[in-house]
Amino acid sequence: MAELTINVDKIVDFLVGLLNTPSPTGFAHQAIEYTEAALRAFPALRLHRTRKGALVVTWPGQSNDAPRALTAHVDTLGAMVKEIKSSGRLKLSKLGGFAWNTVEGEGCTVFAAKGETVRGSILLEKASSHVYGKVVGEAVRDDENMEVRLDAQTVSKEDTEALGIRVGDFVAFDPRVELTNGFVRSRHLDDKACVACLVAAVKALSDAGVQPAQDTTLLISNYEEVGHGAAAGIPPEVTELVAVDMAAVGDGQTSDEYHTTLGVKDSGGPYHHGLSQRLRQIADQYGIPYMVDIYPYYGSDGEAYWRAGGDVAVALIGPGVDASHNYERTHLEALVATTQWIIGYLIN
Ligand SMILES: [Zn+2]
Repeated sequence: MAELTINVDKIVDFLVGLLNTPSPTGFAHQAIEYTEAALRAFPALRLHRTRKGALVVTWPGQSNDAPRALTAHVDTLGAMVKEIKSSGRLKLSKLGGFAWNTVEGEGCTVFAAKGETVRGSILLEKASSHVYGKVVGEAVRDDENMEVRLDAQTVSKEDTEALGIRVGDFVAFDPRVELTNGFVRSRHLDDKACVACLVAAVKALSDAGVQPAQDTTLLISNYEEVGHGAAAGIPPEVTELVAVDMAAVGDGQTSDEYHTTLGVKDSGGPYHHGLSQRLRQIADQYGIPYMVDIYPYYGSDGEAYWRAGGDVAVALIGPGVDASHNYERTHLEALVATTQWIIGYLIN
Protein backbone atom coordinates (compact mmCIF):
# COMPACT_ATOMS: atom_id res chain seq x y z
CA MET A 1 0.00 0.00 0.00
CA ALA A 2 3.08 2.21 0.27
CA GLU A 3 2.63 3.61 -3.25
CA LEU A 4 -0.99 4.53 -2.58
CA THR A 5 -1.63 8.04 -1.34
CA ILE A 6 -4.67 8.86 0.75
CA ASN A 7 -5.43 12.52 0.22
CA VAL A 8 -6.66 13.69 3.63
CA ASP A 9 -7.65 17.16 2.39
CA LYS A 10 -9.85 15.56 -0.25
CA ILE A 11 -11.52 13.34 2.40
CA VAL A 12 -12.25 16.43 4.46
CA ASP A 13 -13.55 18.46 1.49
CA PHE A 14 -15.88 15.69 0.39
CA LEU A 15 -17.02 14.98 3.95
CA VAL A 16 -17.78 18.60 4.84
CA GLY A 17 -19.83 18.99 1.66
CA LEU A 18 -21.72 15.78 2.39
CA LEU A 19 -22.34 16.74 6.03
CA ASN A 20 -23.77 20.05 4.84
CA THR A 21 -26.14 18.26 2.44
CA PRO A 22 -29.39 17.54 4.33
CA SER A 23 -30.45 13.88 4.03
CA PRO A 24 -32.90 12.63 6.65
CA THR A 25 -34.01 9.06 5.88
CA GLY A 26 -36.61 9.18 3.12
CA PHE A 27 -35.26 12.49 1.83
CA ALA A 28 -31.65 11.57 1.08
CA HIS A 29 -31.66 12.18 -2.68
CA GLN A 30 -29.44 15.27 -2.49
CA ALA A 31 -26.75 13.33 -0.62
CA ILE A 32 -27.02 10.48 -3.12
CA GLU A 33 -26.58 13.02 -5.95
CA TYR A 34 -23.60 14.61 -4.20
CA THR A 35 -21.88 11.24 -3.80
CA GLU A 36 -22.73 10.19 -7.34
CA ALA A 37 -21.21 13.42 -8.69
CA ALA A 38 -17.95 12.73 -6.83
CA LEU A 39 -17.74 9.14 -8.09
CA ARG A 40 -18.48 10.14 -11.68
CA ALA A 41 -14.85 11.35 -11.82
CA PHE A 42 -13.67 7.72 -11.99
CA PRO A 43 -14.30 6.24 -15.44
CA ALA A 44 -13.82 2.61 -14.34
CA LEU A 45 -16.96 2.80 -12.17
CA ARG A 46 -20.47 2.13 -13.41
CA LEU A 47 -23.13 3.97 -11.46
CA HIS A 48 -26.82 3.36 -11.20
CA ARG A 49 -29.71 4.00 -8.80
CA THR A 50 -31.99 1.38 -7.37
CA ARG A 51 -35.74 2.01 -7.59
CA LYS A 52 -35.59 2.73 -3.87
CA GLY A 53 -33.09 5.50 -4.55
CA ALA A 54 -29.80 4.00 -3.37
CA LEU A 55 -26.61 4.43 -5.41
CA VAL A 56 -25.00 1.23 -6.69
CA VAL A 57 -21.42 1.46 -7.92
CA THR A 58 -19.96 -1.40 -9.92
CA TRP A 59 -16.18 -1.60 -10.07
CA PRO A 60 -14.61 -4.31 -12.25
CA GLY A 61 -11.88 -6.27 -10.50
CA GLN A 62 -8.99 -8.49 -11.57
CA SER A 63 -11.14 -11.56 -10.84
CA ASN A 64 -14.84 -12.21 -10.62
CA ASP A 65 -14.98 -15.62 -8.98
CA ALA A 66 -15.90 -14.16 -5.56
CA PRO A 67 -17.47 -10.74 -6.06
CA ARG A 68 -17.57 -8.44 -3.05
CA ALA A 69 -19.57 -5.52 -1.79
CA LEU A 70 -19.07 -2.70 0.67
CA THR A 71 -21.83 -0.47 1.95
CA ALA A 72 -22.18 2.83 3.80
CA HIS A 73 -25.23 5.04 4.19
CA VAL A 74 -25.93 8.70 3.46
CA ASP A 75 -29.29 8.88 5.20
CA THR A 76 -29.34 10.38 8.67
CA LEU A 77 -31.55 10.92 11.66
CA GLY A 78 -34.20 13.58 11.19
CA ALA A 79 -37.94 14.09 11.49
CA MET A 80 -41.22 14.66 9.67
CA VAL A 81 -43.93 17.15 10.50
CA LYS A 82 -46.52 15.21 12.52
CA GLU A 83 -48.91 18.03 13.27
CA ILE A 84 -49.26 21.76 12.77
CA LYS A 85 -50.31 23.11 16.16
CA SER A 86 -52.87 25.86 16.73
CA SER A 87 -49.90 28.03 17.83
CA GLY A 88 -48.40 27.68 14.36
CA ARG A 89 -45.55 25.58 15.74
CA LEU A 90 -44.85 21.99 14.63
CA LYS A 91 -44.98 18.66 16.35
CA LEU A 92 -42.53 16.15 14.89
CA SER A 93 -42.32 12.44 14.28
CA LYS A 94 -38.77 11.04 14.58
CA LEU A 95 -36.86 9.41 11.75
CA GLY A 96 -34.41 6.92 13.25
CA GLY A 97 -33.47 6.27 16.86
CA PHE A 98 -32.47 9.24 18.99
CA ALA A 99 -33.45 10.99 22.20
CA TRP A 100 -35.12 14.41 21.93
CA ASN A 101 -32.65 16.03 24.29
CA THR A 102 -29.86 15.37 21.76
CA VAL A 103 -31.41 17.85 19.31
CA GLU A 104 -32.93 20.31 21.75
CA GLY A 105 -31.92 23.84 20.80
CA GLU A 106 -30.71 22.73 17.36
CA GLY A 107 -31.47 24.70 14.21
CA CYS A 108 -33.47 22.88 11.57
CA THR A 109 -34.82 23.20 8.06
CA VAL A 110 -38.36 22.22 7.10
CA PHE A 111 -38.66 21.07 3.46
CA ALA A 112 -42.19 22.07 2.52
CA ALA A 113 -43.89 19.77 0.05
CA LYS A 114 -43.95 22.32 -2.77
CA GLY A 115 -40.23 23.07 -2.50
CA GLU A 116 -39.97 26.00 -0.08
CA THR A 117 -37.60 25.69 2.86
CA VAL A 118 -38.39 27.24 6.23
CA ARG A 119 -35.83 27.59 9.00
CA GLY A 120 -36.55 27.03 12.66
CA SER A 121 -35.32 25.47 15.87
CA ILE A 122 -36.24 22.51 18.01
CA LEU A 123 -37.33 23.47 21.51
CA LEU A 124 -39.14 22.19 24.52
CA GLU A 125 -42.70 23.61 24.43
CA LYS A 126 -42.15 25.20 27.82
CA ALA A 127 -38.73 26.58 26.90
CA SER A 128 -38.29 29.79 28.91
CA SER A 129 -36.73 29.42 32.34
CA HIS A 130 -38.20 32.78 33.36
CA VAL A 131 -41.72 31.61 32.62
CA TYR A 132 -41.72 27.91 33.48
CA GLY A 133 -39.00 27.65 36.15
CA LYS A 134 -38.00 24.11 37.16
CA VAL A 135 -40.15 22.48 34.44
CA VAL A 136 -37.54 23.46 31.84
CA GLY A 137 -34.95 21.27 33.53
CA GLU A 138 -37.20 18.51 34.78
CA ALA A 139 -39.60 17.73 31.92
CA VAL A 140 -38.94 14.42 30.19
CA ARG A 141 -38.56 15.32 26.51
CA ASP A 142 -41.05 13.45 24.32
CA ASP A 143 -42.97 13.67 21.04
CA GLU A 144 -45.70 15.67 22.79
CA ASN A 145 -43.69 18.43 24.40
CA MET A 146 -41.02 19.08 21.76
CA GLU A 147 -41.81 21.47 18.94
CA VAL A 148 -40.35 23.46 16.06
CA ARG A 149 -40.40 27.23 16.42
CA LEU A 150 -40.38 28.54 12.86
CA ASP A 151 -38.41 31.62 11.86
CA ALA A 152 -41.49 33.09 10.20
CA GLN A 153 -44.34 35.21 11.50
CA THR A 154 -46.88 32.56 12.36
CA VAL A 155 -49.24 32.36 15.30
CA SER A 156 -51.80 29.94 13.90
CA LYS A 157 -52.13 26.72 11.97
CA GLU A 158 -53.37 28.74 8.98
CA ASP A 159 -50.30 31.03 9.06
CA THR A 160 -48.01 28.00 8.98
CA GLU A 161 -49.99 26.35 6.20
CA ALA A 162 -49.63 29.58 4.24
CA LEU A 163 -45.86 29.02 4.36
CA GLY A 164 -46.48 25.83 2.39
CA ILE A 165 -45.85 23.53 5.35
CA ARG A 166 -47.93 20.35 5.59
CA VAL A 167 -48.01 17.18 7.67
CA GLY A 168 -45.39 14.80 6.29
CA ASP A 169 -42.81 17.42 5.34
CA PHE A 170 -39.22 16.41 6.07
CA VAL A 171 -37.16 18.17 8.73
CA ALA A 172 -33.33 18.15 8.76
CA PHE A 173 -31.26 19.02 11.83
CA ASP A 174 -28.33 21.41 11.35
CA PRO A 175 -25.08 19.42 11.22
CA ARG A 176 -22.92 22.23 12.71
CA VAL A 177 -19.68 21.04 11.13
CA GLU A 178 -16.45 22.17 12.75
CA LEU A 179 -12.86 21.05 12.22
CA THR A 180 -10.31 21.62 14.97
CA ASN A 181 -6.98 19.92 15.67
CA GLY A 182 -7.83 16.97 13.44
CA PHE A 183 -11.24 16.50 15.06
CA VAL A 184 -14.34 16.57 12.91
CA ARG A 185 -17.35 17.60 14.97
CA SER A 186 -20.76 17.34 13.34
CA ARG A 187 -24.10 15.64 13.45
CA HIS A 188 -24.48 12.72 11.09
CA LEU A 189 -20.84 11.56 10.95
CA ASP A 190 -22.90 8.37 11.13
CA ASP A 191 -22.50 7.41 8.39
CA LYS A 192 -21.25 10.19 6.15
CA ALA A 193 -17.73 9.77 7.55
CA CYS A 194 -17.68 6.22 6.15
CA VAL A 195 -19.07 7.26 2.77
CA ALA A 196 -16.11 9.67 2.66
CA CYS A 197 -13.73 6.79 3.47
CA LEU A 198 -15.17 4.70 0.61
CA VAL A 199 -14.81 7.58 -1.85
CA ALA A 200 -11.25 8.20 -0.62
CA ALA A 201 -10.39 4.52 -1.17
CA VAL A 202 -11.78 4.66 -4.72
CA LYS A 203 -9.71 7.76 -5.38
CA ALA A 204 -6.48 6.33 -3.98
CA LEU A 205 -6.75 3.13 -6.03
CA SER A 206 -7.97 4.85 -9.19
CA ASP A 207 -5.21 7.49 -9.06
CA ALA A 208 -2.64 4.69 -8.73
CA GLY A 209 -4.22 2.71 -11.58
CA VAL A 210 -4.94 -0.24 -9.28
CA GLN A 211 -7.98 -2.45 -9.81
CA PRO A 212 -9.69 -4.17 -6.91
CA ALA A 213 -8.89 -7.88 -6.56
CA GLN A 214 -12.50 -8.90 -7.24
CA ASP A 215 -15.47 -7.32 -8.95
CA THR A 216 -16.72 -4.98 -6.27
CA THR A 217 -20.06 -3.31 -5.64
CA LEU A 218 -20.34 -0.22 -3.46
CA LEU A 219 -23.85 0.35 -2.15
CA ILE A 220 -24.49 3.87 -0.92
CA SER A 221 -27.64 3.19 1.00
CA ASN A 222 -30.46 5.63 1.76
CA TYR A 223 -32.66 3.88 4.36
CA GLU A 224 -30.20 2.53 6.94
CA GLU A 225 -31.43 4.50 9.94
CA VAL A 226 -34.82 2.81 9.74
CA GLY A 227 -33.34 -0.67 9.35
CA HIS A 228 -33.78 -1.75 5.73
CA GLY A 229 -31.19 0.25 3.76
CA ALA A 230 -29.17 -2.59 2.23
CA ALA A 231 -32.11 -5.01 2.10
CA ALA A 232 -32.03 -4.34 -1.67
CA GLY A 233 -29.23 -3.32 -4.01
CA ILE A 234 -26.55 -5.99 -3.45
CA PRO A 235 -26.18 -8.16 -6.59
CA PRO A 236 -26.97 -11.85 -5.91
CA GLU A 237 -23.54 -13.05 -7.07
CA VAL A 238 -21.80 -11.13 -4.25
CA THR A 239 -20.16 -13.45 -1.69
CA GLU A 240 -19.03 -10.97 0.98
CA LEU A 241 -20.38 -7.70 2.33
CA VAL A 242 -18.38 -5.29 4.47
CA ALA A 243 -20.61 -2.74 6.16
CA VAL A 244 -18.63 0.43 6.83
CA ASP A 245 -20.33 2.25 9.66
CA MET A 246 -19.30 4.16 12.75
CA ALA A 247 -18.02 2.51 15.90
CA ALA A 248 -19.76 3.70 19.07
CA VAL A 249 -17.59 5.22 21.81
CA GLY A 250 -18.55 5.20 25.50
CA ASP A 251 -18.04 3.59 28.90
CA GLY A 252 -16.97 -0.01 28.59
CA GLN A 253 -16.33 0.25 24.85
CA THR A 254 -12.89 -0.32 23.28
CA SER A 255 -13.75 2.02 20.37
CA ASP A 256 -12.21 5.49 20.33
CA GLU A 257 -12.06 8.45 17.98
CA TYR A 258 -8.48 7.76 16.89
CA HIS A 259 -8.93 4.17 15.75
CA THR A 260 -10.78 2.20 13.19
CA THR A 261 -12.75 -0.67 14.65
CA LEU A 262 -13.94 -4.15 13.84
CA GLY A 263 -17.46 -4.62 15.17
CA VAL A 264 -17.87 -8.31 15.93
CA LYS A 265 -21.32 -8.29 17.52
CA ASP A 266 -24.27 -5.93 18.00
CA SER A 267 -28.01 -6.15 18.61
CA GLY A 268 -28.29 -8.46 15.60
CA GLY A 269 -25.76 -10.97 16.99
CA PRO A 270 -22.27 -11.88 15.82
CA TYR A 271 -20.89 -10.94 12.43
CA HIS A 272 -19.21 -13.51 10.14
CA HIS A 273 -16.18 -14.89 11.93
CA GLY A 274 -14.23 -15.91 8.83
CA LEU A 275 -14.56 -12.51 7.14
CA SER A 276 -13.78 -10.71 10.41
CA GLN A 277 -10.64 -12.83 10.78
CA ARG A 278 -9.55 -11.93 7.26
CA LEU A 279 -10.04 -8.24 7.98
CA ARG A 280 -7.88 -8.62 11.10
CA GLN A 281 -5.14 -10.27 9.02
CA ILE A 282 -5.32 -7.48 6.43
CA ALA A 283 -5.05 -4.82 9.14
CA ASP A 284 -2.05 -6.63 10.64
CA GLN A 285 -0.44 -7.02 7.22
CA TYR A 286 -0.55 -3.24 6.60
CA GLY A 287 0.17 -2.19 10.18
CA ILE A 288 -3.23 -0.56 10.64
CA PRO A 289 -3.98 -0.30 14.36
CA TYR A 290 -7.60 -1.22 15.12
CA MET A 291 -9.94 -1.99 17.97
CA VAL A 292 -12.43 -4.83 18.28
CA ASP A 293 -15.75 -4.01 19.89
CA ILE A 294 -19.33 -5.09 20.64
CA TYR A 295 -22.27 -2.66 20.57
CA PRO A 296 -25.29 -3.22 22.81
CA TYR A 297 -27.81 -1.01 20.92
CA TYR A 298 -26.74 -1.07 17.30
CA GLY A 299 -27.70 -2.52 13.94
CA SER A 300 -26.09 -2.20 10.51
CA ASP A 301 -26.94 -2.47 6.85
CA GLY A 302 -24.97 -5.74 6.83
CA GLU A 303 -27.65 -7.25 9.04
CA ALA A 304 -30.37 -5.60 6.95
CA TYR A 305 -29.08 -7.64 4.01
CA TRP A 306 -28.85 -10.80 6.11
CA ARG A 307 -32.43 -10.33 7.27
CA ALA A 308 -33.53 -9.75 3.68
CA GLY A 309 -32.12 -13.18 2.83
CA GLY A 310 -28.66 -12.22 1.60
CA ASP A 311 -26.44 -15.32 1.60
CA VAL A 312 -23.08 -13.65 2.13
CA ALA A 313 -20.41 -13.31 4.79
CA VAL A 314 -20.92 -9.96 6.56
CA ALA A 315 -18.43 -7.96 8.60
CA LEU A 316 -18.47 -4.46 10.10
CA ILE A 317 -15.68 -1.90 10.25
CA GLY A 318 -15.65 1.84 10.90
CA PRO A 319 -14.12 4.82 12.68
CA GLY A 320 -14.84 5.50 16.33
CA VAL A 321 -17.46 8.24 16.74
CA ASP A 322 -18.02 9.88 20.09
CA ALA A 323 -21.58 10.75 21.23
CA SER A 324 -23.22 8.78 18.41
CA HIS A 325 -26.75 9.82 17.40
CA ASN A 326 -26.03 13.00 19.32
CA TYR A 327 -23.58 15.82 18.50
CA GLU A 328 -20.95 13.46 17.11
CA ARG A 329 -17.19 13.75 16.78
CA THR A 330 -14.36 11.71 15.31
CA HIS A 331 -10.72 12.29 14.41
CA LEU A 332 -8.99 12.23 11.03
CA GLU A 333 -6.70 9.45 12.31
CA ALA A 334 -9.70 7.13 12.46
CA LEU A 335 -10.88 8.15 9.00
CA VAL A 336 -7.47 7.56 7.44
CA ALA A 337 -7.13 4.18 9.17
CA THR A 338 -10.59 3.15 7.99
CA THR A 339 -9.71 4.18 4.43
CA GLN A 340 -6.45 2.18 4.59
CA TRP A 341 -8.35 -0.85 5.81
CA ILE A 342 -10.89 -0.56 2.98
CA ILE A 343 -8.03 -0.30 0.48
CA GLY A 344 -6.29 -3.33 1.99
CA TYR A 345 -9.51 -5.32 1.72
CA LEU A 346 -10.14 -4.21 -1.86
CA ILE A 347 -6.73 -5.25 -3.18
CA ASN A 348 -6.35 -8.56 -1.35
ZN1 LIG B 1 -24.90 4.30 10.69
